[in-house]
Amino acid sequence: MRDNAPRSRLTTHEVVNQPDTPGDSDLFAGDLPLREALEREAPAWVRQRLAPLGRETGSLHVQALGEQANRHPPELALFDRHGRRLDEVRYHPAYHELMHLAIDNGWHAVAWQEEGRGGHQAHIAALYLLTQAEPGFCCPVTMTHAAMPVLRRSPDIEAAWAPGLLANAYDPRPLPAEQKRGLTFGMAMTEKQGGSDVRRNTTRAERDGESWRLTGHKWFCSAPMSDAFLTLAQTDAGLTCFLAPRFTPDGERNTIELQRLKEKCGNRANASAEIEYRSAWASLVGEPGRGVATIIDMVQQTRLDAATAPVGMMRQALVEAWRHVCGRHAFGRLLAEQPLMQAVIADLALEVEAGVALVMRAARAFDGDARGEAHETALARVLPTLAKYWHNKRGPGFMAEAMECLGGIGYVEEAPLARLYREAPVNSIWEGSGNVICLDLLRVLARHPESIAALRDELRAAQGLQQDLDLALAGLEHDLTLPAETLEPRARWLTQRLAQSLQGALLLRHAPAEVAETFCRSRLGVETSPAYGVLPAGSPLAAILARIGD
Ligand SMILES: Cc1cc2nc3c(=O)[nH]c(=O)nc-3n(C[C@H](O)[C@H](O)[C@H](O)COP(=O)(O)OP(=O)(O)OC[C@H]3O[C@@H](n4cnc5c(N)ncnc54)[C@H](O)[C@@H]3O)c2cc1C
Repeated sequence: MRDNAPRSRLTTHEVVNQPDTPGDSDLFAGDLPLREALEREAPAWVRQRLAPLGRETGSLHVQALGEQANRHPPELALFDRHGRRLDEVRYHPAYHELMHLAIDNGWHAVAWQEEGRGGHQAHIAALYLLTQAEPGFCCPVTMTHAAMPVLRRSPDIEAAWAPGLLANAYDPRPLPAEQKRGLTFGMAMTEKQGGSDVRRNTTRAERDGESWRLTGHKWFCSAPMSDAFLTLAQTDAGLTCFLAPRFTPDGERNTIELQRLKEKCGNRANASAEIEYRSAWASLVGEPGRGVATIIDMVQQTRLDAATAPVGMMRQALVEAWRHVCGRHAFGRLLAEQPLMQAVIADLALEVEAGVALVMRAARAFDGDARGEAHETALARVLPTLAKYWHNKRGPGFMAEAMECLGGIGYVEEAPLARLYREAPVNSIWEGSGNVICLDLLRVLARHPESIAALRDELRAAQGLQQDLDLALAGLEHDLTLPAETLEPRARWLTQRLAQSLQGALLLRHAPAEVAETFCRSRLGVETSPAYGVLPAGSPLAAILARIGD
């Protein structure tokens, strides 16, 4: 026993029948589905580089940082004590330490540093692990990563800003970019009158010599201490993409005023601000009037991250629930040995297995796209859409169920489940809310037949392996031929069905038969249920549970 172990013998009673206090764990070594997915999808260097991150994110130290960063949310510092404008946000030291962990190790940049050589797979696997330390700080990590394809749209912007993005150095000082060791990026699109429908943006851009001046508001702008923001504003040519830096080229604070920070349901470690551009200095990115087409490159990247974060959170919740039931007896038997509890946890484990398989497959498509492989390029357009929608629809219910496995203490803030539960809806809302993502699938259907053909190929690779999947595929073949007006009200069904069928196909090809068969029967067959913990009779629970690890 450790010298500093908590005291079990109290004056009135002894603390028994509670799981041991958790110690350091290794989130990579203990995660069999992740390791298998990487062995299958990624080059060996990715696993080697992730191994230390698994130990760090699972350490008590980093887990405590996540808890502290949530408990002490960022604060707004609008002015200095003499009344001069600062427009800064002050973060708890734990937040900065987490940012150092991510950015000093290059997890925001690895996709581009190793593009086409497994960089995207490394980024996605790292994000999945970092999320298990704390999901909120992953927002600026994601946005910084995702900004790169947009910077590439303009050679002068790329030359000026990409080296700072690609530097493995977190430098939070509020200084002009050229004085900093590394840079982070944010994204400001949403306005009060138009979030999903950004064409309703009213922020105006006026020419000022070679540069531009922005005037208007943005209703949501996360990570407002970023060094630059990719943003949209109206020009005479229409909605246009701009880069608005926090400091102007002459070293002055840019006139990007922070109005207030949002008080959010979860995502507490991350600051989300309302901002006002008051003739803020900006550079044009891409072509005037092509704002949405330009910034969509960033959105496609953030969507895969927003599809991955819920899987990381689900994995963390699963491990918490499993650890608890392995250390708690009720009615004379360990909870982990009670058949009904086994069914609940096994069902949660299946969801994580499927999520990991899908996001790692999508990450491989991104790397293949960078190598110019047509099939992978086609998949890269559609897989983030499917995964972003479906993983986030599965997340909130998953958190509630995992919380319930712990009984009363699951609902108490000391365990991470309450925090995960509050965090769970956010990835469904930002970067395209659920309906908007499903409508995006219809757009792919109409405009990218090559993506649907590539998806069909992936699904057909598992044809004949499992009867429920075969029936689902036959149904999908019919649905995919329906006219758009029939499909629109059914777009959620189509997105869900394609996502689950692809998850099933991936598991059938790559996971143990017990996992794949039970997944397909419980998700695609006639025995499906909206509640977790409903698995077909005779499901091989022990085999599924044996893969959870710690
Ligand atoms: C914590 C947090 C941080 C954020 N950070 C940022 C940020 O950094 N930068 C940024 O630009 N934005 C940010 N956002 C904003 C976010 O991206 C938007 O809230 C989101 O895109 C939805 O836009 P909206 O709020 O205007 O809702 P709306 O666009 O009004 O949508 C409301 C609902 O209507 C649905 N809907 C929309 N169109 C249709 C349709 N045609 N058919 C059916 N249903 C439809 C949507 O799916 C949604 O459910 C953040 C949001 C949150 C919660």
